[in-house]
Amino acid sequence: MTATITWVDPSLVIDPTASDVQLAGARCTACGTTMFPFLGGCPKCGGSDMERVALPTTGTLWSYTVQYFEPKAPYRGLEPFEPFGVGYVDLGDVCVETRLTVNDPAALSLNMPMRLVTITAFLDGDQPVQTFAFAPQEDKS
Ligand SMILES: [Zn+2]
Repeated sequence: MTATITWVDPSLVIDPTASDVQLAGARCTACGTTMFPFLGGCPKCGGSDMERVALPTTGTLWSYTVQYFEPKAPYRGLEPFEPFGVGYVDLGDVCVETRLTVNDPAALSLNMPMRLVTITAFLDGDQPVQTFAFAPQEDKS
């Protein structure tokens, strides 16, 4: 049985129905700058011809912190609130701001290999709503 996947924002990913998730970036056809999430225009050269590209699913941790208190509305999360890691993962052409699956700073370090996963962001009624996150690559959970 395949459950329906509900995304926080289906435009974040190439195929919101796929089990192999790939983030959808934007690449400027004029200068090659890559962005995430998708933008209709290039902040570097002002070009407006952007192509949708699948971003790499692995990268390295560029920066991180832990969110210890519940963000203000419109934040929606699982109840009860649990601290969560946030950071930037360097995918080569672009750095992506992301949730991290780890909320223990001692388990994180700069440049550690990370891989793309999905997590439940919050429940809509009893329906899980999914978003992307990055997990340490050696963590198979
Ligand atoms: Zn450009």
